[in-house]
Amino acid sequence: MNDCVFCKIVEGKQEAELLYKDDALIVFRDINPKAPTHLLIVPRKHIKSVNELEDWDKELMGKIFLIAKEMAVKEGVSAEGYKLIINVGRGGGQIVEHLHLHLLGGKRFEE
Ligand code: 5GP
Ligand code: ZN
Repeated sequence: MNDCVFCKIVEGKQEAELLYKDDALIVFRDINPKAPTHLLIVPRKHIKSVNELEDWDKELMGKIFLIAKEMAVKEGVSAEGYKLIINVGRGGGQIVEHLHLHLLGGKRFEE
């Protein structure tokens, strides 16, 4: 996907400070943070959205949540609590069409 901004970050063609990386995913800070901690957990594989998930992506999705849990600890927001958000499609507020999990923390969210 040539014009996918997250693929470019995965390939090192677009700048982003990686807070974590492994063979399946990368983590970096959102360029436009909506909370003191706003991380994006992004699979290296280009999957457009949750709507395009397949059976063989089950392990990958599990990893995404486990790394989110670890990153929350590293960022010091785990005990206080945080939000994990996946926007799906334009109607769901998804702008970047490469599946990603938002981790938001460090502030009190409305109930
Ligand atoms: P979405 O609305 O698609 O769920 O969220 C996409 C997020 O990616 C937005 O919060 C936006 O600020 C962030 N974003 C878009 N382009 C870049 C970029 O080039 N670098 C970083 N670090 N974040 C980006
Ligand atoms: Zn992509």
